[in-house]
Formats: sequence, structure tokens, C-alpha cells
Amino acid sequence: MASISIQHLVKKYGDGFPAVNDVSIDIADGEFMILVGPSGCGKSTLLRMIVGLEDISSGDLKIGDRRVNDLAPRDRNLAMVFQNYALYPHLTVYENIAFPLRLAKKDNAEVDKLVKEAAATLELEEHLQRKPGNLSGGQRQRVAMGRAIVRQADAFLFDEPLSNLDAKLRGQMRTEISRLQKKLGITTVYVTHDQTEAMTLGDRVAVLKRGILQQLATPRELYDNP
Ligand code: ADP
Ligand code: ADP
Repeated sequence: MASISIQHLVKKYGDGFPAVNDVSIDIADGEFMILVGPSGCGKSTLLRMIVGLEDISSGDLKIGDRRVNDLAPRDRNLAMVFQNYALYPHLTVYENIAFPLRLAKKDNAEVDKLVKEAAATLELEEHLQRKPGNLSGGQRQRVAMGRAIVRQADAFLFDEPLSNLDAKLRGQMRTEISRLQKKLGITTVYVTHDQTEAMTLGDRVAVLKRGILQQLATPRELYDNP
């Protein structure tokens, strides 16, 4: 686990107005930070710069005390949970969770230990031999988180993970993500355009507008002072 320090980050695509314009946010170790704002405000670009999928035009990015501006995604030790969960349909839940460990050539005993620990945390023990196609949306989400947990990443990054779900499941998953984040105590950055998610999930909320950080406050402070 680690803090994430975002200092004066800028992203320019071509000559236009910067997509991310001098944004600074210090995310504490274990903190749940929401990035919220309307479509096009730069929140995905900021998340993609953190995970390393987008080059940084200027500014500094640190994970813990390591400056990671020029590190490849694989060397940043972060776990991104995508909207579509990116599970492998032909693999069991067990093998989906184990996947990063297989890539890292861990031995079977260690794979087994880490997968079973993650499955216990996520209450997936009974589903390990099933395939993703037979799971509910909520269960699939937990498998995706399991894959992130076994990698022992320093932080979770979520890009609108609930936007394809219906309202009822979205509500359940909000509760679930919030509970798991507290249980794991893992630093989390969560992108959404949904006000309810922004006001109920995080410890703090960063509000972006046209690439600029407009507000950085707890949900309570935002509620009292919109
Ligand atoms: P959000 O996630 O808040 O919807 P984005 O970060 O996707 O916003 O986009 C921020 C701005 O950057 C938008 O104006 C978008 O059009 C622009 N943008 C995003 N990706 C690219 C790209 N690959 N090339 C050019 N402009 C881009
Ligand atoms: P390979 O190591 O064979 O290129 P991948 O392309 O799947 O395998 O992953 C490359 C590296 O990117 C991994 O070693 C891992 O550190 C990182 N990585 C993989 N998936 C994610 C993810 N969801 N979020 C963040 N980093 C990831």
C-alpha cells in the first residue's frame, strides 16, 4: 500500500486546452479518493496518467516515495479495475484470479495460497470452479478485484466500474466496494460521473471541470458547501 502524490500534472493533446490542467492532489495511504466531474472533464485522462497508460506532459507523480513519471505500467504496482472487468470467459474464477500470479511464474503452492486468501476476503470460495459467464455482475466485479488483490498492488484504480449495471445492482455494488475498500485498507482512486457514488463512496472527492481541480473536500464538506 502507498500514498499517491499528484503534483501539477498537465496533459496536453495537441494544441488545444489541456485535458488535465495543473492538478495537484495528495492521496493518503489507505484513502479512498473519488475523481468526479462531467464527461470530458479529464478524469479518465488523470487516472490513465496515474496507471501509466498515458504520458504525462508535465508535473510529478509519486507512488509512496518513488517518482513514477517514466515507469512503465507494469513497474508501478497498481491494479486497475476496468468497467467491463476484463475477465477471461474460458477460465474458471480460480484461474482468472490466479492469472497475474501465473504470469509472474509463482509456484503452485503460492498461487493456491494467495487465490484462496483473496477468495475468502471476497466471499468467492464457493464459486472458484465456475466460469465468469455464469456469475452475477456483482460476483464478476469481485473476481476482478480478486485479481487485483493477489497482485498485492499498492493501490486500486477504478474507471466507472458500475456504469453498465442497473440501478439496483449499482446500489449493492456501491455498498460492496466501500466495505471491501475499508476491509483491505487499500489506497483507492475511483472515477465516476455519478453524484451519488461521489457523495457516498469516498473519503474525499476531487471535482474536476475542464481539466481543472475545482474542489477537493470530504463528502460532508461538499454537502454543506456545494
Ligand atoms: P472524462 O473521463 O472526464 O470524460 P477524458 O479524460 O476522457 O474525460 O477527456 C478529457 C478531454 O481530453 C476531452 O476534451 C477529450 O476529448 C480529450 N481527450 C481524451 N483523450 C484524447 C486523445 N486520445 N486525443 C485527443 N484528445 C483526447
Ligand atoms: P505481460 O507481462 O505479459 O506483458 P500484461 O500485458 O497482462 O502481461 O501485463 C503487463 C503488466 O502490466 C503486468 O505485469 C502488470 O504489472 C501490469 N498490469 C496488468 N494488468 C494490470 C491492471 N489491471 N492494472 C494495472 N497494471 C496491470
